[in-house]
Amino acid sequence: MREFDLVVLGGGSGGIATANRAAEHGAKVAIIEVSHLGGTCVNQGCVPKKVSWYAAHINDAIQKYGPGYGFEVDHLTFDYATFLKARDGYVERSRAGYVNRFNANKVEYIAGYGVLKNNHEIEVNDELIKAKYIVLATGGHPEIPDVKGAEYLETSNDFFAWKDLPGSVAVVGAGYIAVELAGVMHSLGVKSHLVVRFDRPLRSFDRMLSDGIVEAFETDGPQLITHTSFDEYRKNEAGQIECYQKGELRLTVDRVIMAVGRQPNTDKIGLENTKVRLTPKGHIDVDDQHQTAEANIYAVGDVIGKIDLTPVAIKAGRQVAEYLFNHASSAGIDYTNVPSVVFTHPAIGTVGLTQEEAIEKYGEEQIKIYTNKFYSMYASAAWHREPCYFKLVCLGDNQQVIGLHGIGEGVDEMIQGFAVAIKMGATKAQFDSVVAIHPTGAEEFVTMR
Ligand code: NDP
Repeated sequence: MREFDLVVLGGGSGGIATANRAAEHGAKVAIIEVSHLGGTCVNQGCVPKKVSWYAAHINDAIQKYGPGYGFEVDHLTFDYATFLKARDGYVERSRAGYVNRFNANKVEYIAGYGVLKNNHEIEVNDELIKAKYIVLATGGHPEIPDVKGAEYLETSNDFFAWKDLPGSVAVVGAGYIAVELAGVMHSLGVKSHLVVRFDRPLRSFDRMLSDGIVEAFETDGPQLITHTSFDEYRKNEAGQIECYQKGELRLTVDRVIMAVGRQPNTDKIGLENTKVRLTPKGHIDVDDQHQTAEANIYAVGDVIGKIDLTPVAIKAGRQVAEYLFNHASSAGIDYTNVPSVVFTHPAIGTVGLTQEEAIEKYGEEQIKIYTNKFYSMYASAAWHREPCYFKLVCLGDNQQVIGLHGIGEGVDEMIQGFAVAIKMGATKAQFDSVVAIHPTGAEEFVTMR
């Protein structure tokens, strides 16, 4: 029987990071993946999504802003096949990079489906392999609700496999994936509808951000349909999908994408052969050291359901490897002040507590809010008055900045650096002590009054 110091189940961002870091510290490592290496992020998430967002950005630059700057493009065409070649070529090159790295680090990459037989043995491709430690990094998959006509519904996974774009689409959901996909398709010329159950998307974000994206949708699209929950879908003779609510036909579109959340991949990996437990929501239950109820089995990434972001999974995986194979004192990471960007049009960036969370946690009298609304020069010069909204959430007498939020042109590239300041406990006075870079949007974060 082949024996390893570490076997990682799942070759997505978290699993790959764990395997490489452990191997760099001299561990004998195997990683098992049944599908393409890279997991959701590289194959059906962040990477192809960001390339799609760039395509939408280019189209916006030409159509929305170009004329204001004096550019007129006759007969603008967009060839989706050419775009797919570029996007999927980039994805393939990213995957190839993983194999090279495994070879360099001597990580044994096993293409197959791994099933735990007990806390030390895994069956893969009819072979039983043995591991001193196991890291579960099996990720998640999009959820499809149990509704009539669910067979007509697609997900973000399907979107990334489409060979052409539909004429019209309904994206159902209110989180990151829903707003990003609806925005991309709208910008690429698809008649797009974002369908939400309540009054707005991104309800868990700072209110200024969700209001800002609603305003942007109202001005530029996609069409936002609120307070709507379709309970039945039918296919008509023209092959379109009819969306019904309580028997009433509400919308007819070429395709429907459900983006209502994701479920962890815990089925059929043999957890029942171990002491590993699940949380009430079905994620793998780990303590703050990423350790399961089996002392030698750890789990990281979307399968533990803490914060479903690629860099979080990578950080957690590397830390577990550092702990197991390089004497680090802890296998845990800090899940607070994790910055993130929603690639909408315009982009949203956020780190730390929302105004609502800060008030709830510390009381209104402890919190001081600074906001700024301005118009980005990029858009305004082209007569497109796209507003930017920025906010600082400050705590206590020394006004420590505990939340920073923005929506507007360029915000996607601003947040990372400010997240460092927030992680270091910077105060409003320290923000103000920094000389602004002019003219940028980012300068508004250090000049708020
Ligand atoms: P999310 O959990 O972020 O959002 C799904 C939302 O859909 C819910 O919050 C809910 O909002 C709404 N919803 C839930 N059930 C239904 C239903 N039956 N009908 C209609 N709406 C429903 O899931 P996503 O799938 O968007 O994203 C999953 C994770 O992936 C995110 O948490 C994020 O961490 C990550 N991600 C990150 C990205 C980035 O960093 N840019 C990009 C994409 C994904 P409400 O209650 O308001 O209806």
